[in-house]
Amino acid sequence: MNKMEIQEEIRRLSDLLRLYQHKYYVLAAPEVEDLEYDRLFDRLQKLENENPEFKSDDSPTARVGSDLASDLPEAKHSIPVLSLDKAYTAGEVESWMLKTDKNAGRELGFSIEEKIDGISIVLYYEKGLLKRAVTRGNGFVGNDVTANVKTIGSVPLRLPEPVDLAVRGEIYLPLDKFEELNKKMDPPYANPRNLAAGTIRRIKSSETAKIPLDIFIYEGFFENQPSEHKEIIARLESLGFRLNPRYSFFKTTRELRDYIERSTQERAGLPYEIDGLVIKVNEIAAREALGYTGHHPRWAIAFKFESVQAETKIKSIDVQVGRTGRITPVGRVEAVQIGGSTVQNVTLHNQEYISMLEAAPGDTVSISRRGDVIPAVEEVVEKGGSPVWEMPTECPSCGTTLVKRGAHHFCPNRACPDQVMGRIFFFVDKKQMDIENFGPETVEYLISRGMITDIEDLYTCSYDDLIDEKGFGEKKVALIKDGIKKSLEKPFQTVLSSLGIPELGRKAAEILINAGFNSIDKLIKAAEDDDTGALTAIHGIGERTAEIITSELRRPELRSRINALKKAGLRFEADPNELKVTEGVFTGQSWCVTGSFEHFKPRDLALDEIKRRGGNTVTGVTGKTTHLLCGTGGGSKQAKAEKLGVEIVSEERFLELISD
Ligand code: NAD
Repeated sequence: MNKMEIQEEIRRLSDLLRLYQHKYYVLAAPEVEDLEYDRLFDRLQKLENENPEFKSDDSPTARVGSDLASDLPEAKHSIPVLSLDKAYTAGEVESWMLKTDKNAGRELGFSIEEKIDGISIVLYYEKGLLKRAVTRGNGFVGNDVTANVKTIGSVPLRLPEPVDLAVRGEIYLPLDKFEELNKKMDPPYANPRNLAAGTIRRIKSSETAKIPLDIFIYEGFFENQPSEHKEIIARLESLGFRLNPRYSFFKTTRELRDYIERSTQERAGLPYEIDGLVIKVNEIAAREALGYTGHHPRWAIAFKFESVQAETKIKSIDVQVGRTGRITPVGRVEAVQIGGSTVQNVTLHNQEYISMLEAAPGDTVSISRRGDVIPAVEEVVEKGGSPVWEMPTECPSCGTTLVKRGAHHFCPNRACPDQVMGRIFFFVDKKQMDIENFGPETVEYLISRGMITDIEDLYTCSYDDLIDEKGFGEKKVALIKDGIKKSLEKPFQTVLSSLGIPELGRKAAEILINAGFNSIDKLIKAAEDDDTGALTAIHGIGERTAEIITSELRRPELRSRINALKKAGLRFEADPNELKVTEGVFTGQSWCVTGSFEHFKPRDLALDEIKRRGGNTVTGVTGKTTHLLCGTGGGSKQAKAEKLGVEIVSEERFLELISD
């Protein structure tokens, strides 16, 4: 690569990692596996190290991946809240120990503990009382989730001593609880971490309380900090915090290796998920001397467990066309046993991933699998002699020329047979409209018979014609018809998210409906007016999402599908009961908030209360403003409201209004 290409590659990798971080930390719905994320991260780090002139100050490698969500109030951290540097082998940890000893100028002692795969949290206590619970955020500012964290039974609300203290911990969902709960989740979560992350960000703490989260505290920041980690742990335990007892202290590499070995063996039997071990310097003075980068402390390192791996040979590489037109290369490999199951297909993600691995059919590769995810190729172990695989220029399903967007290739033809099939599979799927008795075989058969060509045909198809055809008896046809009929009862949120509009999944549909977009007509109106602002004004809807949704809703083909589905009787308007929070005492009102408040710190908390009850919030007082919530120091906004005759509401009165 020449210099310009390197600069472009660094920019592209940074953008991609930022996007993945948002999906992982904020939406709790990762788009890629951790392994791919880690590879891209390592690649960016390598390119930046070799070309420091192209490293930007806000590079994902220079700072903590932000979990800040816009629909939650923010709070500042008063302690460093960073990520961890990583090692993948015991040897790498040993080198780090040696380097750390050298930097400190003496032989140090270390602690080792399990790295819980959950959500990072900081609890702030003042005079022994829990004042704030704040997510890691961007390391400086996090989201205030105090009310939610208070629902976790093992979080002490009051300590036995009136100390001022900050503690760091990991909130997690025990595995048995996850398995039990996930059976009822629609759609189910991929792992306990995602479910815990989604739960801790709930707007209503009563929702959080339904999920039995737990916590392990692993770090304390006292006013008079003890001199060793060992003492910090003992102090935290005596204050009643819940600590994971499986920690140890060591000095020699022998002890380190023993712990890693034992932990690797025992990991599968633990009642919670861990994704590695954390090794920390024991002496606090040495920690301070070693200091921090913008991303991690220099006095700690995470040892990441290797994923379950095996070696095999790539026989061929095919491409699959998804419902959104995204093209995914899939490696067909010689059957191999991995983690107890036989693997014949592995994902190769996209062209960039393949180019990075320099993979081709005939290569021997090492593949890995973590949890239930589809196995992925990790590296090429031995080349087979073929040139690196190249993405075809045309769609294998319809022959349309492929286009590249971000890291992926797409087939732009919406009528592409594979996309149509994917769209219908998605629509009828259990997690979406859940049309019973309508499996993939039925969909495939109906398409092959020319009885359906897209989603809307599901509601006009004459299923009776199937009777006596291969595998379709009267009973089966009756069941299919029944499934279709029942789907007419599905709420608007489900219908909206089942249309397969990119970026408009269940969560986005819920946010839109709760913010007042409670019918398809309202959304279409915003799309026709090209009013993305009406959507971005909603907390939780970003610019990209708003643009995609509005431009999709302007597409004639989607509009005629919506009309056909409307005619068939599907719900395109939210039932008042479906609106969890939209209709309320403030519906139709426009509120501005000014000054500071006793009960709403930060002020965003008051804005949330208004929105939750159907009110609209604005930043300035105008003729359209109906109410001004005025705290102490209202200033110019109060004067303007008085002049315009806007109703001024005190904090006390506001509390009465929301006392529902
Ligand atoms: P990290 O893996 O760098 O680890 C740091 C975190 O470990 C801390 O914030 C802390 O909360 C936690 N931790 C748990 N137990 C601990 C203990 N005993 N002591 C100290 N810390 C402990 O975490 P990160 O920076 O949040 O995330 C980076 C990782 O997250 C990546 O390596 C990747 O695997 C994953 N990730 C994946 C995606 C994706 O799209 N799949 C996106 C972003 C991040």
